Amino acid sequence: MTHAKGTEPHSHDALERELKSQIEETLKDLPYSVPIYLFTEAGQNEGYNEAARKIIRAFRNFSSKIELKEFGLDHESARQYEISRSPTILFDPEHVSIRWYGAPVGEEGRTFLEAILLLGARNSMMTAQSREIMAKIQDRRSVRVFLSPTCPYCPQQAVNAVKSAIESPEFVSVELVDIQSNPDLAEEYAAYSVPQTYANQVLIAQGAQSEELFALSLQTLEEQTLFIPDSDAEQVDADLVIVGAGPAGLTAGIYAERSGLQTVVVERGALGGQVSTTPVVENYVGFTQVGGKVLVDIMVTHALQYVRIFKGEEVIDVLPGPPLEVLTTRRKFNTKAVLLATGATHRRLGVPGEDRLSGRGVSYCSTCDGPLFQGKEVIVAGGGNSALTEALHLKHIGVDVTVVHRRDTFRAQEHLTRNLVENRIPVLWNKEIQEIRGDRKVEDILLLDNRTGERSTVKTDGIFVAIGYEPEVALAKKIGVELTPEGYIKRDEHHRTSIPGIYSAGDVEGGYKQIVTAAGQGAEAALSIFEDLIDPYWLRNSRLSSAS
Ligand code: NAP
Repeated sequence: MTHAKGTEPHSHDALERELKSQIEETLKDLPYSVPIYLFTEAGQNEGYNEAARKIIRAFRNFSSKIELKEFGLDHESARQYEISRSPTILFDPEHVSIRWYGAPVGEEGRTFLEAILLLGARNSMMTAQSREIMAKIQDRRSVRVFLSPTCPYCPQQAVNAVKSAIESPEFVSVELVDIQSNPDLAEEYAAYSVPQTYANQVLIAQGAQSEELFALSLQTLEEQTLFIPDSDAEQVDADLVIVGAGPAGLTAGIYAERSGLQTVVVERGALGGQVSTTPVVENYVGFTQVGGKVLVDIMVTHALQYVRIFKGEEVIDVLPGPPLEVLTTRRKFNTKAVLLATGATHRRLGVPGEDRLSGRGVSYCSTCDGPLFQGKEVIVAGGGNSALTEALHLKHIGVDVTVVHRRDTFRAQEHLTRNLVENRIPVLWNKEIQEIRGDRKVEDILLLDNRTGERSTVKTDGIFVAIGYEPEVALAKKIGVELTPEGYIKRDEHHRTSIPGIYSAGDVEGGYKQIVTAAGQGAEAALSIFEDLIDPYWLRNSRLSSAS
């Protein structure tokens, strides 16, 4: 594009004036002054030193509330605040611990302005939910956010960190590290993509997070990808209460809300159920392969757009209605219908030593416990899809795996069996596990060869049991829902159980036990509940019988 002669400098000046007056206007009402200390050393990152000086001086000229002090790295203040990088910007060191290694150029100008506004207000402006999480932090957090001036996502994460230091000055200190002017630090942390956030040397986030997720990651010192708001309500009214947040429950939640039913999902354990601990899910439509936890995050994020999830509380009873009363460990829900999507739990071997050594080498989840066995030897028990998936996962993370199976063929899919062979994972065929032994932890297992009758002992550091699942029907039994002879919930083609108003979906009903079938059953059940609530079949039946 060409400019008419003489117009470009003029419009540039006009733009600068406009920007200046906007910034002046924004900073005008700051209640508190914001002291900024700039440390530079000639010859060290000269271009960045100059940029930092220019920008901060310009800001100082915009507002009398910004107090700039400039020091060399040999100054006493540099020693006092242990500063050895040039440029370093220190914000209001009497009130907070926030330092910036680099200059606020490019995208980072936004972070700089936001930091000044928050510090000038002496208010983190965090949401009530973030504040609740921050209040739980009662020991030190040293945060490092790696960023770059060309990264449009970085300011969001940098501002999260700044807010946390303002919210909790006693415990949180923050370093914003520009990787372009501090390549040595980027190298040390292998921070090759930004933003990347560490707290107490632990990677707590890759990419920008919402403020609540940042606070949660900071509190738990673990990357958090889902934030479920907590609720203190003692009573909640709903049209439908879904018990269980696995694929069936989550899908039902989406479908029910989309049908206009006010729906809540209650989950006592991990969101996503078994999927959350499945290392790799194969061929869920749309994904050739996807990590179980990744798929759960996608599903839960989707479901949360529609439905409220109450996490960490257990349904202990359902009392007859109307309305049905769903009692949990935290509150009561009044509802028109209940969907039991309680899934299934790990089947246990039922051999001596299994319970006693559970958590001491006996495990049911390779994604959870596998890393503890890196470089060690473990047994995987089972011959289905789960056992082979777990064995392959363990092998890939560096565990020495042997599969023990009670027959001479697997029931797993052909490609998993092929993969096992290709990965040279040994299999002990026709072996029944008779005992798991060890004093304080698993040391060996006793095997019986069911062809020869021979017994043998195999030394091992751990055993991963992956022999299928049992339906989780404790609640169904308690409220009197009829079960099939195999122990699953008995239901009709509308997913109605033996008790009017109570429905089921997913693995607790038996069937193929695939993620996609559970999701399908959840959708079916939700639609059927919607139809029944418009025209309740239990009232229809009683109308018919009173008419006859
Ligand atoms: P499964 O298919 O029921 O297989 C259980 C395995 O454990 C069988 O090999 C069984 O032996 C063995 N077993 C059962 N009880 C045992 C005992 N007491 N002692 C020793 N071995 C015992 O269970 P799963 O592998 O957990 O799979 C469950 C469902 O999830 C299946 O529908 C499966 O397709 C699905 N799944 C799918 C994927 C996927 O990627 N598509 C991945 C994981 C799971 P026998 O063979 O002798 O009966």
